[in-house]
Amino acid sequence: MTPTLPFGGWTASGLLIAVAILGPGPLDGQQPVPAARSWADRNAASLVTELRDFTALTNVAGDLVTIRRNAAALVSMLERRGATARILETGAEPIVYGEIGDPSRPAVLIYCHYDGQPVDPAGWQQANPWTPVLRTAAIEAGGTVVERWPGPGEPVNPEWRLYARSASDDKAPIVVLMHILDAWRAAGVTPPNRLKFIFEGDEEAGSKYLAETARRHRDLLAADLAVMADGPIHPTGRPSAFFGLRGMSGVTITVYGPVRPLHSGHYGNWAPNPAMRLAQLLSSMKGSDGEVLVAGWEDDMVPLGPADRAALAAFPHDDQEQRLQFQLGSTDGSGAMRHELIAHPSLNIRGMRSLFVGAEARTLVPDVALATLDLRLVAGNDPARQAEKVVRHVEAQGYRVVREEPDSATRVNSPRLARIAGGNGYPAGRTPIDHPAAQAVVTALRETGLGEPVVVPTMGGSGPAYVFTDILRMPFVVVPIVNHDNNQHAENENVRVGNLLKGMEILAAVASAKVPPARSTP
Ligand SMILES: [Zn+2]
Repeated sequence: MTPTLPFGGWTASGLLIAVAILGPGPLDGQQPVPAARSWADRNAASLVTELRDFTALTNVAGDLVTIRRNAAALVSMLERRGATARILETGAEPIVYGEIGDPSRPAVLIYCHYDGQPVDPAGWQQANPWTPVLRTAAIEAGGTVVERWPGPGEPVNPEWRLYARSASDDKAPIVVLMHILDAWRAAGVTPPNRLKFIFEGDEEAGSKYLAETARRHRDLLAADLAVMADGPIHPTGRPSAFFGLRGMSGVTITVYGPVRPLHSGHYGNWAPNPAMRLAQLLSSMKGSDGEVLVAGWEDDMVPLGPADRAALAAFPHDDQEQRLQFQLGSTDGSGAMRHELIAHPSLNIRGMRSLFVGAEARTLVPDVALATLDLRLVAGNDPARQAEKVVRHVEAQGYRVVREEPDSATRVNSPRLARIAGGNGYPAGRTPIDHPAAQAVVTALRETGLGEPVVVPTMGGSGPAYVFTDILRMPFVVVPIVNHDNNQHAENENVRVGNLLKGMEILAAVASAKVPPARSTP
């Protein structure tokens, strides 16, 4: 038997004992999750060193030479495990596709991305973000460099952290998945599902080719469940599942005043001030409690069902801690929980600008005032239609709305004039938690014994879930494994080794979930 140890409670000596107890005898069971757990206990060093080698490859989207090196490495990583692998060309950063398992079994399509955010090396505590460094703990906790990387079969300390760009986001799950295949092969586990892998190379640059690739390879990618392995796990370390991602739309509103800034003394009581008008316009869009007042704002949204609401009720909310951490005197939403509010479409002012403020301020009536809004979308919202509601709202306030920079005739003939640009974006994707595939995921996570799963109807952030739910027409879930304090996108990105080891169990559970065959595409 593999000793079950509490999350985060492993020590190097504990692992040594575990290895000693296990000895070189046969591995326990032919079950997917115990097999992954046993493998993680014995082969943690190989997992860490493969992640080291993979994160040593520069991987910023746009640099096609190095991006292709990553794609080639992925092909050989897949083939080494007996999976078939191929490159799906996009005209730029390729998508790597892999497949293993019995074609007659239900299929699980697992998505990760292999590109990473650009870096500012000056902020890193190591010479090169693509020269991985192993530390005894997080830098903030005084972690020091582990000079010698563990050799094959040597113990690792779960508190160790591997520092490198993409260590967490998103190469860790890829290497963990590869080791799950190793674990199953070593233990003679037949993968209970047919596994399909899709590894994207321009996620951090906007996933420009994913939707098109999905349309072009609909049959190849057909599956009964899509799993996105990305992002951080809940800070408690409990297995987490997010059944949706929000979509995104946005507009920039320009309100016009005089054709050039005017003296505020000579003209200020007479020439309309565009900054004031923009402020009035924006304040008409939201009520004092943050509720959106734009007509029909929530008309298209698919409301949460009973199972989704039950999941939210059970969620370990930390709104009060977060309020104090961010030093907020109050919150919007009449006391509703953050995750409840996140399930609604948003209207957010990203920024506003009109002439000068503070020390630079001059006594002028500005010529224009601008605000850029992001509109986060939920299931049911269409990006263009949601932006159009903003246009209708602005018109209802007495404005003439134009798409292009107005000419002088338009200006003098429009008592109130605004330009609204943008309105493109992509929709949300969400699978109801009472969907049988969603239930299979929750059950599989619960059966890992790593704690009651943290289940959320949708993440607040936006991402291409719609590619899976709308284009490929399959249920969708995000299952993260990496530590929440991984410095994703920032300097000193890292992954905690213990999260890789627990990630083996979590992703093995999801990959072998008892997914009902329900695929709509043959
Ligand atoms: Zn990511």
